[in-house]
Amino acid sequence: MQTIIPPSPPVLLPIKGSLVGFPVRRVYCVGRNYAAHAIEMGHDPDREPPFFFQKNPDNLLVSGDGFPYPPRTADVHHEVELVVALKSGGADIPVEQALDCVYGYGVGIDFTRRDLQAEAKKAGKPWAAAKAFEHSAPVSEIVPVEVVGHPANGNIWLKVNGEQRQQGDLDQMIWKIPEVISELSRLFTLAPGDVIMTGTPSGVGPVVRGDAVTCGVDGVAALAVTVR
Ligand code: MN
Repeated sequence: MQTIIPPSPPVLLPIKGSLVGFPVRRVYCVGRNYAAHAIEMGHDPDREPPFFFQKNPDNLLVSGDGFPYPPRTADVHHEVELVVALKSGGADIPVEQALDCVYGYGVGIDFTRRDLQAEAKKAGKPWAAAKAFEHSAPVSEIVPVEVVGHPANGNIWLKVNGEQRQQGDLDQMIWKIPEVISELSRLFTLAPGDVIMTGTPSGVGPVVRGDAVTCGVDGVAALAVTVR
């Protein structure tokens, strides 16, 4: 069937060492997956089931044009996160088979309109406006598993204008990557092209226009974004 309006182009993430792109289907995010961040946000870090929210595929920012400061907020926070890109999926994936679904890994920032999120939390309302806004998730190139393996530990960090703001280790994740994939697949049918942002370590804080944000997961990927 022809389309009445032009269909949206697929969102493609660059792949390290390749000219072809990784086509994104859905973007899932994990909340409070590092104890130190749960504590800084006023929550108990005990191991409760992970919870999830989503961003839209076209919220991913893959160009080098910088992150445009979004409207209707005065408190945008950075959250550096390990990004997992899936090549296969399914429902009710056992933990032991979950890593077989992974195509590769990258690093990204879950930019958050913290003031809108605080209002939403207080009112028991959804987080969509706080999380799923335009360009809210800058991401690096995806590094295939054949190159990077399955990182279970490693330094994850973010700097603003060269100053360290966030620092943690992947081994501090409350829910490890196989567990995140397995839990997600009990709620949603996962599929090739799904991307998971796996939560942020402590040290989240505001950015302002002009800030130079750099972040990375050592041994996996790095990313540089200017707030404009
Ligand atoms: Mn986050």
